[in-house]
Amino acid sequence: MLAVGEKNVTRRFAFFKNSKLPAQLQPNNRHGPAYCFVDFGFFDLVPYPMLPIMVVGHILHFYGLYLTFTLGLWNTLISSALFMLWGGLGITAGAHRLWCHRSYKASLPMRIFLMIGQSIAGQYSIYGWAKGHRTHHKFADTEADPHNVKRGFTFSHLGWLVLKEHPMADIKGNGIDFSDILADPVARLQDEYYGLCYFIFAFMMPVVTPMILFNESLWHAFLIGYVMRFVTQTHDTALVNSAAHMYGDKPYNDKLHSSENPWVSVAAIGEGYHNYHHAYPWDYGTGEQGNKFNVTKMFIDVASFFGLTYNLRQASQEMIQKGREKAINNNCTESDEF
Ligand SMILES: [Zn+2]
Ligand SMILES: [Zn+2]
Repeated sequence: MLAVGEKNVTRRFAFFKNSKLPAQLQPNNRHGPAYCFVDFGFFDLVPYPMLPIMVVGHILHFYGLYLTFTLGLWNTLISSALFMLWGGLGITAGAHRLWCHRSYKASLPMRIFLMIGQSIAGQYSIYGWAKGHRTHHKFADTEADPHNVKRGFTFSHLGWLVLKEHPMADIKGNGIDFSDILADPVARLQDEYYGLCYFIFAFMMPVVTPMILFNESLWHAFLIGYVMRFVTQTHDTALVNSAAHMYGDKPYNDKLHSSENPWVSVAAIGEGYHNYHHAYPWDYGTGEQGNKFNVTKMFIDVASFFGLTYNLRQASQEMIQKGREKAINNNCTESDEF
């Protein structure tokens, strides 16, 4: 017997080629065989011009890359890289580890710094980002997961941004509590005035800075400081949803699709230890302690030294060992805690 809303899903997916509908419609069926077909679903594009924007954006991105190493100033590249780092920390240390997972606490100046960084990255507001990500954790690798990796690499990477959301993601996502995110005035104000934040921090600041400081041309500053930086960073983040859910070891819980992928950690400044992260999402390191490349963890540690971050949560070795045994014996899956 199908629940309310699932009937429509059935009808809708009847159109999809190769769709394995019954498996998709089981919200708890996380561990069925992955069926990595590429679900383009062109007729189900979002009603705004996301696909053309993405195509034009990528063409300009490659031209920006060409300019970066030919006519652009090296200082412009350095400026762009620094904005990318700030934007990266806004996503990893901010939207992800602070607001979405509450894995540590941060002082007001630090929250403002991270909010600006998160705006620079241009990946929706903190609230919008954390909403999608909590839904991803709660229903990872099912149809309620906004970027369900079982629909293939292309879909989980960026394809999900140009296609309409699967109804199950909406239905299941609505059952999750997100009120704590808007309880923080920094996140609430950014969400309320997101258009303005995007214009100032994601667009104006990275473009105008090399023009004022290094006398860079507007065209070069736009392509290198805005387009090239934004597209590169978006791919870096997307690799966590695609590559880190497909390629890598699963030492913490082999029932999950999420994997340990050190290469993704290089691109996404410490976010590639994804098998660990799905097992212990509330750990501020999003990876086991040790000699791992984790720029974001280093940043939070240094900030903690200066009192800007505190109450850092971390899984103990004993907890990790017990968690492994539980995963093997009880077939346990996602952590219920954020
Ligand atoms: Zn994930
Ligand atoms: Zn997460």
